[in-house]
Amino acid sequence: MRFRTTGCVSALLLAGGFVVLGTTAAVAQSSTPNSSTKVAIDPRPVVRDPAVGAIDTWVSGLSQSTLANGLRVVLAPDTESPTVSVCVTYDVGSRNEVPGQSGFAHLFEHMMFQGSRNVGKGEHFQLVTARGGQLNGTTSTDRTNYFETLPANELELGLWLEADRMHWLDISAENFENQRAVVKEEYRMRVENAAYRPALIELERLIFAGYAPYEHPTIGSMADLDAAKLEWVQDFHARYYAPNNAVLTISGGFDTDIALGLVNKHFGSIASVNVTSFANPAVPPLSTSERRTQVDDVNAKTEAVLVGWRIPESRTEAHYALEMAAKILADGESSLLYESLVRKHSLARDVSAYTYDHRGPDAFVVTIELNQNSKRAEVEQLLERHLGQLATQGPTEEVLQRAKQRTRSNFVFGLQSNQSRAIALGEYATYFGDPRLIAKDFEALLRVTPKDVMTAMSRYLSKAARTLVAVRPVTQPKPATPSKSTATTNQPKPENR
Ligand SMILES: [Zn+2]
Repeated sequence: MRFRTTGCVSALLLAGGFVVLGTTAAVAQSSTPNSSTKVAIDPRPVVRDPAVGAIDTWVSGLSQSTLANGLRVVLAPDTESPTVSVCVTYDVGSRNEVPGQSGFAHLFEHMMFQGSRNVGKGEHFQLVTARGGQLNGTTSTDRTNYFETLPANELELGLWLEADRMHWLDISAENFENQRAVVKEEYRMRVENAAYRPALIELERLIFAGYAPYEHPTIGSMADLDAAKLEWVQDFHARYYAPNNAVLTISGGFDTDIALGLVNKHFGSIASVNVTSFANPAVPPLSTSERRTQVDDVNAKTEAVLVGWRIPESRTEAHYALEMAAKILADGESSLLYESLVRKHSLARDVSAYTYDHRGPDAFVVTIELNQNSKRAEVEQLLERHLGQLATQGPTEEVLQRAKQRTRSNFVFGLQSNQSRAIALGEYATYFGDPRLIAKDFEALLRVTPKDVMTAMSRYLSKAARTLVAVRPVTQPKPATPSKSTATTNQPKPENR
């Protein structure tokens, strides 16, 4: 789920909720009723999955409110915690960018560390790290977030820093130019000089062909970065970076009333703006014939096969089933494709399968990096056979249970830290309007049946509907960068320092 894409979501449960609930469930189960007691119904409670119960309990303790200026606030207090995390999630990502202005949301991820009225350049970083804290920002197709984790008694510092840049970000020509240069360097490192990356961008562009919000990569293109004008960037900022287009989440050791008072003190006077609402174009019909292409890659050491399909959006029954399918196929060394392609046949050195968890139409992707002398045709055949078998016979109950165990682990450990809780809650509140839905998603994933996996796979992961990009290693550099694409650069980036 979203934990994977954010690269962090960690934790919460192990601290308090999980232990307490686990104990409660165990007590309930072991308290066998006295045999002389006449009970019409089995008095044992229906034992829910304890991990689901823990997350349920946690979300029921959240508090939500909205300031007069439209800023939504989600508080997840954990009074015993010695740390506190503050996260501001802006409802703007690369999906909001218009043609010719790709990469702007990501550019602001950098600009937001360049100073504001009361915070000098580099001071945000310095103030947080001097207290042993951590901070970062990330950009995806669907949102941008900024967060810091501090000792619990420094909550006000985190709020003040976020409020100051929400209110008075310094979008000067100087800051714009130096961050444009930084982002261009990042583009060279993460796209132009990264093995398989141009191919993945091409795959995503083809999967979402005709759906503009996801056709281009979050990092943008060199051409658009070069052409960007300061006024365009300032205009982009004016449309989206405002309290009524953001969710503030706080997780950790704080008192709710005190925290709300501080939120009002620092954010309450920031004016709302007329936010440009997301123009959601019609989603083109699913492809009915296979699309194939080849990308020559000067950075790749071996061939690779990247396969992708368009799938329904998150929080649908088909999506839950496909999330489980991805786990069955390639999560861990006992997964189906890893076991077959890497261990048994030694055809590949790495495999992956994942959904993107976009808030709009989504994608399912399988990537296979081949071994040096492997035949691509053989790899493709085996992949097809495994997908076909899973789609027609479904996973065994045992295989599905193993995938669910990994899902439990992702959720529980994914919510372990205050930072990951603040990030996850910010995403849920921004995407779906209710952070508590995180518990519903977890439960829905654990309800997936073998038949659900079969049905979703045969409906959405057919050969006819797929896009395949073959990567061929080459030694001669060539103009390799695709002009447009789609990407989820959700992973935190160690920039701005
Ligand atoms: Zn960056």
